[in-house]
Amino acid sequence: MAHPPYWIRRGRVPRCLLPPFLAGEDPVPLLDLRIDHGLVVELLPHGVAPDLDNVPDQDIDQQGGWILPALADLHTHLDKAHTWDRSPNLDGTFAGAIAAVERDRPNWSHDDLYCRMDYSLGMAYYHGMAALRTHLDCPPEHMALTLEVFLELQQHWRDRLVLEAVSLVTLDQYFTPAGVALADRLAEIGGILGGVAYPHPELDAQLDRVFQLAQDRQLRLDFHADETGDPQSNALERIAAAALRHGYTDPIVCGHCCVLAVQDHATVNHTLDLVQSCDLTVVSLPLCNLFLQDRQAGRTPRWRGVTLVHELQARGIPVAIASDNCDDPFYAYGEHDLIATYQLSSQITHLDLYPHQSIPTITSVPSRHLGTTGTFYSGMAADLMLFSATSHRELIARSQGDRTILRGGIRQERHLPAPLSRHHPV
Ligand SMILES: [Zn+2]
Repeated sequence: MAHPPYWIRRGRVPRCLLPPFLAGEDPVPLLDLRIDHGLVVELLPHGVAPDLDNVPDQDIDQQGGWILPALADLHTHLDKAHTWDRSPNLDGTFAGAIAAVERDRPNWSHDDLYCRMDYSLGMAYYHGMAALRTHLDCPPEHMALTLEVFLELQQHWRDRLVLEAVSLVTLDQYFTPAGVALADRLAEIGGILGGVAYPHPELDAQLDRVFQLAQDRQLRLDFHADETGDPQSNALERIAAAALRHGYTDPIVCGHCCVLAVQDHATVNHTLDLVQSCDLTVVSLPLCNLFLQDRQAGRTPRWRGVTLVHELQARGIPVAIASDNCDDPFYAYGEHDLIATYQLSSQITHLDLYPHQSIPTITSVPSRHLGTTGTFYSGMAADLMLFSATSHRELIARSQGDRTILRGGIRQERHLPAPLSRHHPV
């Protein structure tokens, strides 16, 4: 039976997510939303709808609480998630993380991957995510299995979550037959071509190869770039230069770009001039950066590891915030909740005092890449997160565990999945 139409009354929506006719002066105006047939069919300033006094029982009174669209997490690693306990990264460094993943990889059977990834998606759905893009390690011997598991889960979750896969390899792999087969397979399954652009004497040639493979197959691109505090690393600059050299016009995503924070002014400006000329989104992963960057035994870290989010935004370069790793050797914590990531990330990056800059990093910017609804308009899907928080400060300060999740306008029964460790007998 169809759900009857109803109103969500007195909800606050940040102005940066609203169409101009509703924006007004209030940075977070109070609105009434009419929900019908799974859509937001009307968005009105609070109090102007004629029949609001005569409301059915189904109406929701938000009492000034914030409303956001269901979120899109643009950068995750579901294949690595929930391996910390069996393969911890005991020195907490980037090199230690890579070594721990290699030690763990023999465990990555079909069932192991499926179980951990499915659990991750259950957690993400519980927290109100609409979409996730995951990087998947694709060494030649593991590529077929990992992509098979991903496709099974994409099918299993198809009515609840949009899922995208990006290949994660070193770029030299694309010179091999296995690398070409990987690009072909990604084209078949709607995947995204990606990899880690490590500093390398042949980096330009590697990027030429990657851009050529992508253009021949109409693939989008998503790189790990400059996840380091070594100022010599210049992958973002080389990627942007390659995009311009190849006339590549599809959207590019680059994750991390930490090095911008430790390079001199002229170097940064040169890189950002190039980036500004491309359709390139930078994804900042502040929690993973805080965990790995500048970690040395017996020494207190001196820098936060995050990229230049304010400077990028000032140039109009889109910046997303995403969660990255979860309970694995690259980041020991997390539970696939982009709101929890946002609460800390907005503080780490000092975006916390500027909601109009901060909120788009988890809404309109990532949703453009994942094809979900990231702004408010009449006719949008009523996939919404309703918060008790009545201000941006409260959104950051409180746990938000009491949020209400609507899918197609219908309130979801929520059951927090038990920790994965409980799935195995002690
Ligand atoms: Zn990553």
